[in-house]
Amino acid sequence: MMSTSKFQEIGQILRDHQRFAILGHVRPDGDALGSQLALALSLQALGKEVRVWNEDGMLEKYSFLPRAELLTKPPSTPEDFDVAIALDTAIQNRLGTALVAIRSSKIWINIDHHPSNPGYGDVAHIDSSAPATAEIVFHLIKSQGLPFNRDIAENLYAAISTDTGSFQYPQTSAHTFEIAAELIRTGLDVGRLSQQLYENYPRRRLELLRELLRTMRFQQEGRVASFGLTLKTAAELGVLPEDNEGLIDHLRAVRGVIVAVFFEELSDGKVRVSMRSKSDTVDVCAICQKFGGGGHALAAGARVRGSLPEVEERVLAEIRAKIGSLKAAAPPMT
Ligand code: AMP
Ligand code: MN
Ligand code: MN
Repeated sequence: MMSTSKFQEIGQILRDHQRFAILGHVRPDGDALGSQLALALSLQALGKEVRVWNEDGMLEKYSFLPRAELLTKPPSTPEDFDVAIALDTAIQNRLGTALVAIRSSKIWINIDHHPSNPGYGDVAHIDSSAPATAEIVFHLIKSQGLPFNRDIAENLYAAISTDTGSFQYPQTSAHTFEIAAELIRTGLDVGRLSQQLYENYPRRRLELLRELLRTMRFQQEGRVASFGLTLKTAAELGVLPEDNEGLIDHLRAVRGVIVAVFFEELSDGKVRVSMRSKSDTVDVCAICQKFGGGGHALAAGARVRGSLPEVEERVLAEIRAKIGSLKAAAPPMT
């Protein structure tokens, strides 16, 4: 839950220092990028010197975010900071090349909402009840009286909207809507923002979905659904890594499906596994942790070494074992 003293401690550090690096996880989503920009804009308005780095740079699809140009790929020559802040990043090495670009930092702050976050850094504020890291950033800004304006609000709104599946996922609370209301009161245009977020995809994303649906598999009487993407297909379609964010929701949305999995072949000999659960009885974070990953109970991921078919079989076997053990208790939904 909200921790006033933690916010005070972080607020004091922000006020007392000058040079900041604001970082987020590789393969960023709306929450990582929006939270990074929001906090950066607030600190900038406070007169601080701020670098906003993400291994992947600003994604094309989020480049409409206010002041998106502030967020860049990290430089190849490392720099020194007073304070480095990791946002929305469950494991420190998921900062990727942004971590390497910090030669030194007097203080490391870790702000996140992943329950699997071990609390790395000098000051960690992990609130696993928050549906988005942006909610925590909002509280930090508000509780500490840090600068707040419409550009900041738009970034926070985009982050919260995307991480809650448009205010649908279970952690979405009355409080989330109260925050959204406060963000909207800055004058932001919900219709325009939603269109930029959800109705502005490149056509190749749909072409990718068509290919993924061709590989779709159902197992365990329809409780487990999966599809996969080879490097070859990705190259043929000319898709970017960011194009597949959210496509797994098509599997999750099928009646009877409890676990949805997306397998993506990567160029480094690993497979990116993305997993969603629709039931409190199946914790996909626990399953992904067995493969070195992490995340949330209902949305998690891992990067697993091996070929696409190998990883598919190993991961699906683990899910079948979990689902099989539930079967006696819960008959299949039809
Ligand atoms: P994704 O399926 O990539 O949208 O990720 C779902 C959730 O799992 C996100 O909250 C991620 O931060 C987390 N996650 C994804 N991949 C990993 C990984 N390799 N290690 C730890 N957490 C991950
Ligand atoms: Mn994220
Ligand atoms: Mn998040």
